[in-house]
Amino acid sequence: MKDIPKTIQIGLHTITISFEKGLKDEKGNPLCGSFEGSKLHITIDSDIPETLKIETFWHEVVEALVFFLEIKMPHDKIQSFGLLLSQVAGQMTFENEPMMKLFTGRK
Ligand SMILES: [Zn+2]
Repeated sequence: MKDIPKTIQIGLHTITISFEKGLKDEKGNPLCGSFEGSKLHITIDSDIPETLKIETFWHEVVEALVFFLEIKMPHDKIQSFGLLLSQVAGQMTFENEPMMKLFTGRK
């Protein structure tokens, strides 16, 4: 979990990220992650595999972007964008170590 940043900046907003064991929605269904716009917070299940955590992180970043842009996007499109971002970010290399960590989860 050290590979996913504790915060990200989207415009003026600082989004905090935390991990929770056995994350569930309001109906009790298991969730990999969630974004709460009113709390500016992303929660990721701490029990899922590391690569799924990174993919979930990018999915929730897209959820946050959709929230701030006030656009409608079907959930399967949000998932597709999240997958693409995680793949693009995973191939990027950065000379700047904090940027490398933020975008790829690698050091
Ligand atoms: Zn979602």
